[in-house]
Amino acid sequence: MKNKGFTTRLVHADRLINSPESGAVHQPTTNSVLFEFKEAQDIVDVFQGKQAGHVYGRSSTGSNVALQNILNFLEGGVGAVTFATGMAAITATMLSLFKAGDHILVSHFLFGNTRSLIETMGALGIEVDFVDVTDVINVKSAFKENTKAVYLETIANPVTQVADLRAIGQLCEDRKALFLVDNTMTPANMFDAKSVLASLTIGSLTKYIAGHGNVLGGAVVDTGLFDWASFENILPLYRTADTSQWGLTQIKKRGLRDMGATLAPASAHAISVGLETLALRTEKTSENALRLATYLHGHEHVAAVYYPGLADHPQHFLAREYFNGYGGILSFDLTDGIDPIAFLNALDLVICATHLGDTRTLALPVAPTIYFECSEQQRKDMNISDNMIRMSIGIEDIDDLVADFEQAFAKF
Ligand SMILES: *Cc1c(COP(=O)(O)O)cnc(C)c1O
Repeated sequence: MKNKGFTTRLVHADRLINSPESGAVHQPTTNSVLFEFKEAQDIVDVFQGKQAGHVYGRSSTGSNVALQNILNFLEGGVGAVTFATGMAAITATMLSLFKAGDHILVSHFLFGNTRSLIETMGALGIEVDFVDVTDVINVKSAFKENTKAVYLETIANPVTQVADLRAIGQLCEDRKALFLVDNTMTPANMFDAKSVLASLTIGSLTKYIAGHGNVLGGAVVDTGLFDWASFENILPLYRTADTSQWGLTQIKKRGLRDMGATLAPASAHAISVGLETLALRTEKTSENALRLATYLHGHEHVAAVYYPGLADHPQHFLAREYFNGYGGILSFDLTDGIDPIAFLNALDLVICATHLGDTRTLALPVAPTIYFECSEQQRKDMNISDNMIRMSIGIEDIDDLVADFEQAFAKF
């Protein structure tokens, strides 16, 4: 299977790596919260980690492990953990790995809810500095003695800044810091996290992975590149035989088991079914987005277009190097005098909704919605104008999308 293409490996993964019983090609959904042990010694051994198995549905089920195996297989990692949402995955990772007095460097250009979570972490005594990750120089100069990690997103939303991934990965390796990469925008078929030396990939399964707007989920995958023996925050209890598993073990125990944001088994199944068409969907959305970005670029009613596939995007050279396709997120500023609310109402086919990575094309006015909680100065620092519209491009036929914009612009 190793030398086969991405989608070939993916659609055969469940039946081959999870080997469900009776020739089933999908891992069945586990509806049991509890697990019986015929031999009492076995429950002791599973609790003590001496034997593999499930003890309680909050910690693990066959459905969750099956999805974890597939996600890990696609990223070529050493293990994965799944969660109820992407935010749960991020929260559990942060709170299980860091403590008061640690310092972490975080991208200035972050998903709004992650930014808000980072503020909560600050209140718990975890020191945080925000840095512009489009150039490694900024990250380097912000490093401190107690810096434990760098956290960033591959392509940031909504302005589509691309991180200086490989250089930051190298810096983290040199400083023995964790390199935490939210790859929600660029799943494994688009981006090789190991090639930029990511330690963990963290992100939402709700978006491109599941793909159809019908299920929430999140995951952490350990690439195997970080040396956990050098990470002092691993509790003695989790310094078990295999060093490569220390980090995930602590995230599973302290982050998943104790915090409790478990992915429901039915959701794990829905996600693995949606995932099968990942490459088909992202190839189409990347192609559609590039076509639409090119159409909007230079339109008389458009002041700016933010899309990494455009040659004049400030990090186009980085996007070309790291990603297979430029993704489905595209934002643009309308010219002054066109009200974003009125413009969105003029679109017929494009759905006004928050969310991204759907099969349908979605749009929303950025400043008064997802960045409503930020101050005007914060929005300015992030280059978010009051005229900005964020789009998540779907898999519709491109001519229909362009026609929808043409009829909408004609009203102004
Ligand atoms: C949506 C999103 C998340 C959070 O995922 P949920 O599944 O909605 O909790 C995290 N990071 C990024 C970049 C996202 O777009």
